[in-house]
Amino acid sequence: MAFNAFSGAAGQDFSDLLRSTPQQARPRGVAAAAAAGFSAEELENVTGPERRWSWVEIDLSAIRHNVQIAKRRLSPGCRLMAVVKANAYGHGAVQVARTALSAGAVQLAVATVNEGIQLRRAGIDAPILVLSEPPASSIPLLLHHDLMPSVYTTEFAIAYGELADRAGVRAPYHLAVNTGMNRIGVRFDEVLEFIHSISFHRALEQVGTFTHFATADCAETLDFNMQLRRFKETVAAMRSAGIDPGLVHCANSAAILRYPETHMDMARLGISMYGFHPCPETRGYFDLRPAMSVHARITAVNTPPMSEGVSYGMNYRSTGSVKICAIPVGYADGYPRALSSRTSVIYAGHLCRQVGNICMDQCMFEVDLRSHGTHRRLDPHVGDEVLLVGSQNGAAVSIEDLCDVVGTIPHELCCALSLRMPKVYLR
Ligand SMILES: *Cc1c(COP(=O)(O)O)cnc(C)c1O
Repeated sequence: MAFNAFSGAAGQDFSDLLRSTPQQARPRGVAAAAAAGFSAEELENVTGPERRWSWVEIDLSAIRHNVQIAKRRLSPGCRLMAVVKANAYGHGAVQVARTALSAGAVQLAVATVNEGIQLRRAGIDAPILVLSEPPASSIPLLLHHDLMPSVYTTEFAIAYGELADRAGVRAPYHLAVNTGMNRIGVRFDEVLEFIHSISFHRALEQVGTFTHFATADCAETLDFNMQLRRFKETVAAMRSAGIDPGLVHCANSAAILRYPETHMDMARLGISMYGFHPCPETRGYFDLRPAMSVHARITAVNTPPMSEGVSYGMNYRSTGSVKICAIPVGYADGYPRALSSRTSVIYAGHLCRQVGNICMDQCMFEVDLRSHGTHRRLDPHVGDEVLLVGSQNGAAVSIEDLCDVVGTIPHELCCALSLRMPKVYLR
């Protein structure tokens, strides 16, 4: 029986009306896929940037370089842990983890159990620390995939030890100490009591002890010094009570670069591995290279008459001597709407103003048609490449530039920019 969308509820048949439209018989959806006859391989070969003209480029040689900068800065004997949580701050967890390990990192840190499993499934067998205590219901996954949890509640610790014991494996963990950030961890002055309350459990093995600084990137050092002092005293107290703290670590990127006294048995490198300075104080001292750039191709070129508006709300009006180019990057791609008319893109080595409200999936920029000085008149065409973040011919737009406009930090913008755009890796 032929499908007939025009059959009414009363059984009336309007198929006469459709007899002349051959589309009626055309297969749709899943059936169409079979009818078209393209092989799975052919379809797979259409890369991300060929499916939509926007992509994020990740330069893995920059990651390698940044890891080496950090390694050179670390005190002798201090191991490097690469923090690859949140899909490596948007850069791609598996690719970054492999690169960091090959450049000298020896351990990895993630935020969630699933992030750890993703690395294991990719065949990565370096030690992996989950930076917070996951729900006890996830313990079978931790044990199965050899992921170390951070621990700071007795309930979790005992459940972890018991399940490991039953499975006949050990239960390694890092103790998280709250030295003043007041996010997670056992409060520094309750650590001995905590350890004694779980120490009866034979499967539990404390292989690390760590804390996290709230202000290592701040100009003011009072709170930082207080946290550092509390951490050192806690570790010393553990040692004098005969407790082995395992690998002792506290430094994040800011502390790695600024405070060598925080380089203990291990240090956790996050944002600076991706090429960003944790604070203005480290600029000029370390040659960090951002690994991420953002690219698109022009999808449409318009020449609106003078005073016609562009995009939702028409906050921008054409001067009549501009071309308006559309690119397929919007706020759903992590290009914040708050940047609207407050940033530039790079076209043919020139900064061009982004104009009009940034839409969910697209935005527009302006190419001035009046020639200025010695500059050749720009002549944009559909398919031409545009840089939203990166540098070309001395024109540059950095993630930090965008952060300054919208009031955020590179961590957040990098995560957002990787949510939908495909990633292309340079080695
Ligand atoms: C995210 C995180 C880091 C990495 O911090 P950066 O400032 O990005 O270097 C280190 N330690 C913990 C506990 C974290 O959550």
